[in-house]
Amino acid sequence: MISRSAASRSARSLGRMLVSSPRLAYRSLRKRYCQQSALLDYHLLGLRGASHSLEKITVELTHRCNLRCRMCSNFNNPETPTPRGVQYARSEELTYEQLAEFVDEASVKTSVFGLTGGEPTLSPHCLEIIRHIKKKGLYCGLTTNGTQLHRLAEEIVDSRLDWISISLDGPEKVHDEIRGVPGTYRKLMEGVEALQKFKNKQGRKEPKIGIKFTLVGDNYQYVEDIVKAAVRMKAVLIDITHLFFWTEEIVQKQRVLHGDDVSCYVANTDGLKGMDPVKIYEALQELKKQSWPIHIRFLPDLDLNETLTYYQQPSRFVHSHRCLRPWLNCSLLPNGDIVPCLSYVAGNIKDRSFSQIWNSARFRHFRRLLKKNRLFPACARCCGLFEY
Ligand code: SF4
Ligand code: SF4
Repeated sequence: MISRSAASRSARSLGRMLVSSPRLAYRSLRKRYCQQSALLDYHLLGLRGASHSLEKITVELTHRCNLRCRMCSNFNNPETPTPRGVQYARSEELTYEQLAEFVDEASVKTSVFGLTGGEPTLSPHCLEIIRHIKKKGLYCGLTTNGTQLHRLAEEIVDSRLDWISISLDGPEKVHDEIRGVPGTYRKLMEGVEALQKFKNKQGRKEPKIGIKFTLVGDNYQYVEDIVKAAVRMKAVLIDITHLFFWTEEIVQKQRVLHGDDVSCYVANTDGLKGMDPVKIYEALQELKKQSWPIHIRFLPDLDLNETLTYYQQPSRFVHSHRCLRPWLNCSLLPNGDIVPCLSYVAGNIKDRSFSQIWNSARFRHFRRLLKKNRLFPACARCCGLFEY
C-alpha cells in the first residue's frame, strides 16, 4: 500500500512537473495509466499470467562498453553464464534489419522504446534505429555514459530523439574513478555542450536531458554538487538512485527457491564500500529542504529506518507489495532474447515474433510464478521493485 504522505508527495511532484515540463508530466501520467491497467491484468488474469499493458520496451543494443564502472552488472561477473552476466560478442548482436523489424512489430503493443546497453552508442545501428523509431512517430529515449556525445551530438539532435539520460557520478575526479577511465567526465561535459549547441542551432527542444546519479560509497557526499551540475547542464530531471545490488546471500536464496531458470548473480557489491546510511539519509534530507529549478526523483524515496534496512540488511524488503515490471516492460537483449528480468529468457525474436513471445506459455509462466511468490528474493534490491 502506498502511504498517504507518499501519495501527497507524489501529487505535489506531478504538479511541479506539469509546470516545469509538460512532456515529462505526460510520460509520468501515461506510466501511471499503464500501471493501473497492469494491476487489472495482475489481479483478473493473474492465474493465466497474460498482460495487455506493455508500457515500454528496453532495447539493449549491445553489451559492449568503453568504460568499466564499479557498479556495472555487465562486467563485474563476466564469467557467470547468465544472459545478463556475459557480454555478447559483436557478431552475436542483431542486425539493423532485425532491429527495425522488431520495432515495427512491437510498436503495435507500445509506443515507447528505450535504447540502452552496455553503451548503446557503440552499436553501429544506434542512430539508424533512433531515426527508424522516430519516423514511425514513436517515443525514443537513449541511456548513455555520455562519452560519445561530442562526436554524435549533431546527428542525435537531427534524429529527433526525445530523451537522453546521462550518467553522472560526481565531480571530475570522483566520476572518473567510479567510471574506471580517466577523461570520462571531461568528454561527458563536452558532449552535453555540443548537444545544447546543436539544439540551439536547429531550434529544437529535444532531446530533453535527464541525469542519473547512483549513490555509492564514494560519492554521496557530492549529491548537492551533482544537482547543481545538472542545473548547469540544463537537464530537466535528475534521478538520484540508491545502489541496486545482489549479495551472495540473496543469490543463494534465489537459487534455492527457483533454480537456474530464474537466477541472479552477485552484482554491484563493490559500490557498497564506504556507504554510511545515516550520512546518505542526511545528505538527501538537506537536498529536499532546498528549492531547485530541476525535477528531482529519489529512487526509491526512503525514510531513515528504511535507509538503514536497505544498506544493513540487504535481504530484507523495504517495500514489499509486488512488482509489475513483467506485466509492463521487458528487455530485448543484444542477441534477440526477450527477458522479463533476472536470467529468465522468454524467447528469441529470431525464432518467434515478439507478439508470440509477450504472452507465450513461457512468459506467462514467469508472471504466474512471480504472482504466486509475490516477490523473489532477488527483488529485495532490484530497481524494478521501486519503479513499478
Ligand atoms: S557505462 Fe554503463 S555499461 Fe558501461 S561500464 Fe558503466 S555501467 Fe557498465
Ligand atoms: S523486482 Fe526486479 S527481479 Fe523482482 S520481479 Fe521486479 S524486475 Fe524482476
